[in-house]
Amino acid sequence: MSTVTTRDGLQVTLQPCPSWCTTDHFDPGTYPHLEDGFHHLSEPVDILTTDVSKIPDGEPTTVQLRLKAFVAPLNAAPGPTQVELALLDNEDAVELTPQLARSIAAALHDLSERAER
Ligand SMILES: [Zn+2]
Repeated sequence: MSTVTTRDGLQVTLQPCPSWCTTDHFDPGTYPHLEDGFHHLSEPVDILTTDVSKIPDGEPTTVQLRLKAFVAPLNAAPGPTQVELALLDNEDAVELTPQLARSIAAALHDLSERAER
């Protein structure tokens, strides 16, 4: 279990990370406030897309998916796990409940089936 020293000199014990978290949360020399928050993050899955309508000038966009849970204050348990879907090239992202992620996965599956007919 890791601890972090706050700006006020408190030693705060962080709650255990979810099993999927692969993030180092606080670099040495970082002194957050007790009420600050942080994210547990999984390894990202990057999917490079193509946009044939923009070839040869268009650049492909990377869609990045990962699990994410917010914690605040520092010693709180992780909040609900969300699936983050980010478009890396324009810095847009949405955070999805597991149910919404399944809805999007189902919609993508249906659209891909129709596209291949
Ligand atoms: Zn973590």
